[in-house]
Amino acid sequence: MADLKINSKSGTQKTLGESSIGTFKAGFSGKVLTAGDTGYDDARTIWNAMIDRHPAMIAQALGADDVKRAVDFARENDLRLSIKGGGHNIAGNAVCDGGFMIDLSLMNSVEVDADKKRANVGPGAKLSDFDREAQAFGLATPLGINSTTGVAGLTLGGGFGWLSRKYGMTVDNLLSADIVTADGRMVRASETENPDLFWGIRGGGGNFGIITNFEFKLYPVGPDVLTGLIVFPLAQAKDVLQKYREAVKTMPDDLNVWVVLRKAPPLPFLPEDAHGKEAVILAICYAGDPAAGEKLIEPMKSFGTPFGQFIGVQPYANWQQAFDPLLTPGARNYWKSHNFAELKDEAIDLVIKYVSYLPSPHTEIFFGLIGGQASRVSPDATAYSQRDALWACNVHGRWETAEEDKKGIAWAREFFDAAAPYATGGVYVNFMPEDETGRVASAYKPEVWKRLADLKAKWDPTNLFRMNQNIAPTSS
Ligand SMILES: Cc1cc2nc3c(=O)[nH]c(=O)nc-3n(C[C@H](O)[C@H](O)[C@H](O)COP(=O)(O)OP(=O)(O)OC[C@H]3O[C@@H](n4cnc5c(N)ncnc54)[C@H](O)[C@@H]3O)c2cc1C
Repeated sequence: MADLKINSKSGTQKTLGESSIGTFKAGFSGKVLTAGDTGYDDARTIWNAMIDRHPAMIAQALGADDVKRAVDFARENDLRLSIKGGGHNIAGNAVCDGGFMIDLSLMNSVEVDADKKRANVGPGAKLSDFDREAQAFGLATPLGINSTTGVAGLTLGGGFGWLSRKYGMTVDNLLSADIVTADGRMVRASETENPDLFWGIRGGGGNFGIITNFEFKLYPVGPDVLTGLIVFPLAQAKDVLQKYREAVKTMPDDLNVWVVLRKAPPLPFLPEDAHGKEAVILAICYAGDPAAGEKLIEPMKSFGTPFGQFIGVQPYANWQQAFDPLLTPGARNYWKSHNFAELKDEAIDLVIKYVSYLPSPHTEIFFGLIGGQASRVSPDATAYSQRDALWACNVHGRWETAEEDKKGIAWAREFFDAAAPYATGGVYVNFMPEDETGRVASAYKPEVWKRLADLKAKWDPTNLFRMNQNIAPTSS
């Protein structure tokens, strides 16, 4: 490899000499890729097609030693650095233009200790990798709802999904992590080792180092669970959502019901004339005994007169993939997100109004129900501190062509602004798009934000890890 033009940490271009590249490559066991190499485009491509960036160099790590060498190389050469886990982050922070990207996707091992109910998970593992291995033993931990998401980024921001009401956020089930720090040390973080760092990585994103192994607690789940969808016409949404809001007040932790408002997909259990019609969908997962779940779910079927419904027992791992067809990579996606502690009538009216003129057939607004065990943890226990978020609402703008960007983005921003008075003011850090760098503090309680800045000053004072929802070190 000849000399290479590459961006420095501050963004100015510099030249990396052939010999320093050669020395790095000689000690690195994975592949090092530049533009034109086989695999370069695959490695730089992420879930959100709106992000199209070209790193000058990509290092595909095969293990912790590779990660340490790559961090040393980035620091010693003052390089702009990005880290790719599952590549799902909407803001595209996994990839940097003109800089140095460490791609962790090949470090995707999952080792389950069924006796101890623990799993060691590599930073390149997808949710499907984790669920598959854990479910082989009838075990699971709370993760998200789209199986191609990376375990790493999801966990570092907090992580929630169908099991969070019962077992808490993903971070509430993290037992330890191995981390390569900005100064190239390999440290372990847990309640007893570097507890400050352990607190920070449980919600503070990739600000404090690169995690090379996550150790999680597991629980018996399924393997069959009662799940399904009830799909109502949008015309009934006000009534349905008011009844849903009431039901949430007494909902047991075993039950989780998300609300999705969108055009009805062509699902086999829906009559053909409902396909493409605006709908309010209750997406349901009961993590306990299916017979008990059926009794709780039954009344929801008469929240209105549904277009159709399908509730049944299926393997938990299948349900974890049920939404994948609506969330395939390669589309253009723009998100706006609010946390809600209550669903006021005015908020319901607004959602109904905006869903009646969706900018594209793939766009949706969803309310992901959290609460339960996730809300019983003290807000200062982990950096993920929005424990009052009963719903994380995401305006998920999604379309196919760049020509649709303007209309879709304007629609999402308008709804977001109009809904702000009814939301908590907080946001889930993992749902923030690239134009929200000024809003990162809103993802944390004020005292937690201050503590995170101090922690950043301790563990990454020069802000080497800056391609993320960035926390500036206190001193800068
Ligand atoms: C379709 C879809 C559905 C989703 N559903 C849910 C959901 O149900 N629940 C939920 O909680 N979230 C959900 N999310 C949000 C998801 O948690 C974030 O997008 C998350 O950032 C994805 O992690 P990743 O590893 O795939 O992403 P990446 O883009 O690879 O990484 C995200 C960030 O983490 C950093 N990072 C990655 N790996 C490491 C590491 N090992 N060490 C240090 N830093 C690292 C990256 O630099 C980047 O800043 C969803 C996202 C999508 C696109």
